[in-house]
Amino acid sequence: MELIDSDLLSNRCKRRNFLLGAGFFTGLAVTSQWHPVSAKSRFSNYPFSLGVASGDPLPDGVVLWTRLAPDPLYGGGMPLRNFVVQWRVAVDEKMKKVVRRGKTLASPDLAHSVHVDVRGLEPDRWYWYQFQVGNEVSAIGRTRTAGSLFNSIKKLNFAFVSCQDWQNGYYTAYQHLVDEELDLVVHLGDYIYEYGPESGGPRQHNSPEIVTLNDYRNRHALYKTDKNLQAAHAAFPWIVTWDDHEVENNYANLIPEENQSQQAFVTRRANAYQAYYEHMPLRRSSLPSGPNMQLYRRFTYGNLAEFNVLDTRQYRTDQPCDDGLKPRCSQAFDVNATMTGQEQQQWLFDGLDKSRSRWNVIAQQTMLAQYDFNPSPDAGLFNLDQWDGYVAARNRLLSFLNQRQPSNPVVITGDIHSSWVHDLKVDFTKPASAIVGTEFVGTSVTSDFPTNFIAPVQAALGSNPHTKFFDGAFRGYVRCNLTPERWQSDYRVVSSIVDLNASVSTLASFVVENGQPGAQRA
Ligand code: FE
Ligand code: CA
Repeated sequence: MELIDSDLLSNRCKRRNFLLGAGFFTGLAVTSQWHPVSAKSRFSNYPFSLGVASGDPLPDGVVLWTRLAPDPLYGGGMPLRNFVVQWRVAVDEKMKKVVRRGKTLASPDLAHSVHVDVRGLEPDRWYWYQFQVGNEVSAIGRTRTAGSLFNSIKKLNFAFVSCQDWQNGYYTAYQHLVDEELDLVVHLGDYIYEYGPESGGPRQHNSPEIVTLNDYRNRHALYKTDKNLQAAHAAFPWIVTWDDHEVENNYANLIPEENQSQQAFVTRRANAYQAYYEHMPLRRSSLPSGPNMQLYRRFTYGNLAEFNVLDTRQYRTDQPCDDGLKPRCSQAFDVNATMTGQEQQQWLFDGLDKSRSRWNVIAQQTMLAQYDFNPSPDAGLFNLDQWDGYVAARNRLLSFLNQRQPSNPVVITGDIHSSWVHDLKVDFTKPASAIVGTEFVGTSVTSDFPTNFIAPVQAALGSNPHTKFFDGAFRGYVRCNLTPERWQSDYRVVSSIVDLNASVSTLASFVVENGQPGAQRA
């Protein structure tokens, strides 16, 4: 749950690529139909209306994405035929020195999206890329490969973002993010919101609450029409993961929020996952199969940083105590409860054990640190959609960090539409217990944090001594500069999300020194 309701304290809660022809998509679960390849490629309108993107960088490759959509808000506007899309990768921004090129098919089965897994590139360098269909060419995007696994890496700069409710404001954060010197952007979820149109904000959603595949496609397309978001995708490779709103608020595994049969929700989740894949620069290994999709995965920047990207929605047990912001019932301590599922948890622990990187990043959705929203020592008030509702699962992770001591664990988090810095304690109920890691929680790009909830959070800071920083007033992103010796997080915030001329500034900066878990003010 993010804190989106204005009456939070009332506990109310809603709850490969050169092969063409018939064999091309063989074995892909989503793509079952055969379509003729269109020789004609004249479109009703410019087909690259949703821009270009790249993502999931490896030392020798990156995924390139685009979607043909001459009529993006109304199903895309493409004939029910396959189209040949050409792509090229160059080492210069004018696309003169092309080093890789090929063709791929845009199929109606995947909304004429393309995901090109380019390999054979050199590590740790910039590339530019462009698509062409018929005589139409896309914008030129820029991307960067991950650092070599064999050479020492001296620095990495990335930013992380989350929660970009279209209706609540403009993407002024992205307007400034494109000016940053970054190697990478990490998106931690709530890329879209599923709700119907609401009045009062600067812009509205394009349909009632989304349920069908066509609904989800049109919603992703709406978001992707934003020029600032397109510019941010065209400027850097992204690593994405989802939270709840890519499907529905506070869903857990196959359990919907409310008012739906489980069977209807299984279909809805399949629709949402497919549309998500279609609109993100994801590798073929993430292609959904029905209502399931492999999104947790790992990226290594040599000996400097490794990113463990989690999915804490698809496999979690239901929120305890009927969800909400409330005192914890016994269910919140259930040893069988899980955020990640057993398999993903084991994958995480194995990865942390085998890692040879200085900084071990856990990129995930909801706040890991405990936060008791009740300032009174006599009663607790916890956000049960966060790890605070999954205490035993959190203890397994924190105990692992304490016992196995992976190098410099740093958790990066979204969901809560506000900025936080936490020391991660092996036991939050014992303030003197060991600090085993650091958590940076980034604010939203646009999504609302109710102003009347800022004071109550601040009032409870004293009883949460592991929390080093909180701000609820500002929207933006977190810029992270890593060297072997030091991690610095700068909380970059925009002056406004309703004024397109907003400025950007640094609200606060925190550092983690190598070998010393916990954050210090810079
Ligand atoms: Fe959100
Ligand atoms: Ca969320």
